Amino acid sequence: MRLFTFLLACLLLSGLSYAQTTPPKRPLPIIDVHVHAMRVSPSFSIEMCPWFLKDMPGSDPGQPVNAFLNGECVDPLQPAKSDQEMQEAVLATMERLNMTIIAYGDPQILHKWKKAAPDRVIPGIGVSSPDEMTVKAFTDSLSSGFYKVMGEVAPQYRGLSPSDMSLDQYFAVAEKLNVPVGIHMGTGGNGMANLTQPKYRASLGRPFLLEDVLARHPKLKIWVMHAGYPMLDEMIALMGANAYVYVDLAGFIWSYPQAEIHAYLKRLVQAGFGKRILYGTDFMIWPKLFEASISVIENADYLSFDQKRDILFNNAVRFFRLDASKFK
Ligand SMILES: [Zn+2]
Repeated sequence: MRLFTFLLACLLLSGLSYAQTTPPKRPLPIIDVHVHAMRVSPSFSIEMCPWFLKDMPGSDPGQPVNAFLNGECVDPLQPAKSDQEMQEAVLATMERLNMTIIAYGDPQILHKWKKAAPDRVIPGIGVSSPDEMTVKAFTDSLSSGFYKVMGEVAPQYRGLSPSDMSLDQYFAVAEKLNVPVGIHMGTGGNGMANLTQPKYRASLGRPFLLEDVLARHPKLKIWVMHAGYPMLDEMIALMGANAYVYVDLAGFIWSYPQAEIHAYLKRLVQAGFGKRILYGTDFMIWPKLFEASISVIENADYLSFDQKRDILFNNAVRFFRLDASKFK
């Protein structure tokens, strides 16, 4: 018994000296390529249950439309209540997870985040339709040096194909300035066309619609946001034909049923594209969404440690031409 007490004391003491001399170990770095820097708005400040689309409601046009999100579960994620709370939560999460984000959205919010965490925020600017910004204004913004990425580009919500000629000059600028482009392709949740986006067309999320813009701009680096979900065969065929196209896993990773997410991701890896998959959250207003979404990758038992590291970090370093030594 005395020996046991002695051993326990040794163990505690050695643990204590270890804690005193060794700095806390930082987790392996993560790059999240799909973060929205949003203003907190009271009308959108609602609780959310991840993977809520596992049970899409049966609806009728005679009934009120179903909400875009669902907060009916045991432990819904809480939204940030103010811009300040949001910024503090995002910064704390980036520190805790050793995470760098590619973020786009409200320019003022983005500037604040960048100022507060210059090494952890890579800003992007998106154009989804020519009425949002002239080509000159877009060129000037990119040339300012603040923005390193073009995204999120979401012509699908405007009823446009990504290869629509009205967007072509913007892509030409990105190609010339060597700026990678993220294009929304695929999912929009349940009933997007009935809810707020009457021009949204599922068919405009087909990955093959990127072929013309890729052919016109052979040096353009495009990543397909939301991995073109659910059009897996077209996605695989497009990536096979175009060696520089990558995908991100944002949005569907926390909204669709988990078995469906894993089936999609597993097939992309099985088809040989493990080096072209980027981790992305599609973060909006719920600080805990980062950890909830990353856990999907960490719990994917069909992925090796190296495959997870590729998705969470290495592929983004390669795609965005970053310096890996800066992330230690
Ligand atoms: Zn999107």
